[in-house]
Amino acid sequence: MPLQVTFLGTGAACPSVDRNVASIALTREGETLLLDCGEGTQRQMMRYGVGFTFREIYFTHYHADHILGVTGLLRTMGLQDRTAPVTLYGPRGAERVLGAALALGIERNRFPVEIVEVKAGDRLRHEQFDMVAFEADHRADTIGWALVEHDRLGRFDPERARALGVPEGPLWGKIHKGEAITLEDGRIVAPAELVGPTRRGRTVVYTGDTRPSAHVATIARGADLLIHEATFSSEELARAEETGHSTAAQAARIAAEAEVRRLVLTHISPRYTRDAPELLAEARALFSEVIVAKDGMTLDVPFADG
Ligand SMILES: [Zn+2]
Ligand SMILES: [Zn+2]
Repeated sequence: MPLQVTFLGTGAACPSVDRNVASIALTREGETLLLDCGEGTQRQMMRYGVGFTFREIYFTHYHADHILGVTGLLRTMGLQDRTAPVTLYGPRGAERVLGAALALGIERNRFPVEIVEVKAGDRLRHEQFDMVAFEADHRADTIGWALVEHDRLGRFDPERARALGVPEGPLWGKIHKGEAITLEDGRIVAPAELVGPTRRGRTVVYTGDTRPSAHVATIARGADLLIHEATFSSEELARAEETGHSTAAQAARIAAEAEVRRLVLTHISPRYTRDAPELLAEARALFSEVIVAKDGMTLDVPFADG
């Protein structure tokens, strides 16, 4: 069951030759979710092979570099005869800001768009995962988003099932889902005999724009992937603090504290090059499993237990 993250835009504040502004596509089981939608996101989607079939966009806040792409993207989807609804989730101000973005221009939206305002702590249930909004520390009302997969069933042991004389078929499914079964000879087989412990699903955490925050460290505890903004290097520490952003070193410290499996730095200031070696070096000194995001980069998020 692949879970993939495609970085559509990895730059801060304004687009540059190397980086477009913020947007990330999460693809799971063929379903795509967008996180933020900076100017030009639709073209990045075309370039990097992310389809327009998604149904949900999750916004972290309403600074221009995170939202200006939504108007054009939805218009294009209308031109493509889209009929399926789209839902836009965002923190306080969603109705006003996103409503205005949808109303811009003179065309009518041709398919239903719903705007849902959320607050930190909200947990949006999906069939196999939740989208959890958490508090970030930026200048505006800002939240981050975590995709938290539901636990998976434990591993079923087919060899042992056969050895115990449990016939292959519906009984295997029943016992795998946790039901005790009675065999024809009257023996009762408990799930614990054939099924291992429940396995944790995967977690991907996206901070949006934030200063280093204890809330991020908490939600990211043990996460498979932490996508943390790192607008600046430590040389710009004062500027990061003043503008509500993080340095690469601060992001790495959060990753280490939360013991995440992997850290990706994004929302990189245009002052750094495409490889941003100074950001990578200062982060890597504190947390080894780190890379700097680039536009078009796709990462697989494997299960911790293979
Ligand atoms: Zn930003
Ligand atoms: Zn911002």
